[in-house]
Amino acid sequence: MATHDVDEAILTLIGSGQADTRPAIVKQTGLAASTVSAAVSRLVEAGVIAEADESVSTGGRRARRLVTSEGAGALALVELGAHHGLVALTNPTRGIGRATSLLIDIAKGPEAVLAAVMEEISRQEKAAGVRVGGLALAVPGPVDAERTRVIRPARMPGWDGINVAEAVAQQCGLPAIIENDARAGAIGESVYRRRLEGVTPIDTLIYIKAGSAIGGAYLVDGTPLVGQGGLAGDISHIPIEAAAGRPCKCGNVGCLETIASADSIRADLAASGLVYENNAQLLAAARGGVPEVATAIRQAGTLLGLSVAHLVSFLAPQGVIVGGALSAVDAFSAGVRAALHQSCLPSIMEDLVIESSRSGRDAALWGLSSLTPHKISKENRS
Ligand SMILES: [Zn+2]
Repeated sequence: MATHDVDEAILTLIGSGQADTRPAIVKQTGLAASTVSAAVSRLVEAGVIAEADESVSTGGRRARRLVTSEGAGALALVELGAHHGLVALTNPTRGIGRATSLLIDIAKGPEAVLAAVMEEISRQEKAAGVRVGGLALAVPGPVDAERTRVIRPARMPGWDGINVAEAVAQQCGLPAIIENDARAGAIGESVYRRRLEGVTPIDTLIYIKAGSAIGGAYLVDGTPLVGQGGLAGDISHIPIEAAAGRPCKCGNVGCLETIASADSIRADLAASGLVYENNAQLLAAARGGVPEVATAIRQAGTLLGLSVAHLVSFLAPQGVIVGGALSAVDAFSAGVRAALHQSCLPSIMEDLVIESSRSGRDAALWGLSSLTPHKISKENRS
C-alpha cells in the first residue's frame, strides 16, 4: 500500500469509529505495527488526528486513544423506512452499538425526518460519551452512484432529486453519505460475516430484503452493482406468472411484489377472513404456528425463489442471502431454498450458500459502517 493510501485508510478507521488505538488499527488493517505507528505520527503532525488525554485497555496494555482533529470518534448509522428509523453509532470494539428504533414519517420530507434523526443521534452521543464526525444513511429508494442523491423514489415523496449529503451538511454541518437500503444490507452481510468465527466469508452475493415491500442488491467482490440510474437490484417488479393480473403500485400488473411481500401476504389472508393489522402481527402469527399463515409465507418464499433462480443461473453467485422482516420466519427462507433447488442446475447449487441474513435487523447498519461520508466541497454543491 502506498503511504497516502495507508494514511487514508487509518484516517477512515478513526473517523468512523472502527478503530481508536494503534493496536486496533494494526488488527483491522493487518499492517505492520511500525507502518501504523509511522502513519499515525504523520497524521498527528499534519494535525488531522490527535491523541486524546485518555488511554484505553487493549487487552493487557493500555493505549492512547486517537480521535480526529475535530474530536470525532464515531459515525452515526441510520436506516430509514416508511414509518420507522434505526439509529446506531459505530463502536471500536463491537463494530456498531445497540440500535434504537425511531418513529418517523418519511413522506414528511428530508428536513423533518433529519431533525428527528439528529435528535436521536445527539442522545446517543451523550450516552456513549463520543462525538459523531459524520452520518451514513440507508434509504428505501434508488440512490445515485455518488451516494449523495435519491432518484425518483416511489416510497419517499418529497425526497426526489434531493442531495441528502448536502441537506445533512446544511442541517448539522456534518459530512454524510447515503446508500439504498438493500445495497447497504448486501454490504453489511458481507462485512458482518467476516467478523464471525467459523462462517465462510461471502463477497459476491444476491441480497433480498423481504419486508412490507421487496428490494434486492447484487454484490460483486464486496461492491454493490449500481446500474443505470442507480436502479440495479430492483427485483420487486419482475413479472411472475402466479401474480398475473394483480395490479402493482408501479402501474404495471403481475409484479413479484404483489404476491411475495409481507403486505401482499396480509392482503391475501384478509381476503380469506384472517385479518392482521400490521406486519408485526403477521410475523407473530407465523411464530405462533398459525398453519394458514405459515403456508402463505412459505408460498411467498417459493415464488420469490423462482424469480431469484433466473438470476442465480445467470450470475452464479457465492450466496443468496435473505434479509428483511420475512427472513425471521424459517418457512420463508425454506421456500426460497426449495425453489432454487428445483430450478437451478445441481452444479450451481452445490456450493451456493442460501441463508437468512446473519446480521438480521442491523444488516444495513453494518453496511453503512464501512462507508466513508464525504465532506461537501463548494464545487460539489448544486
Ligand atoms: Zn410493479
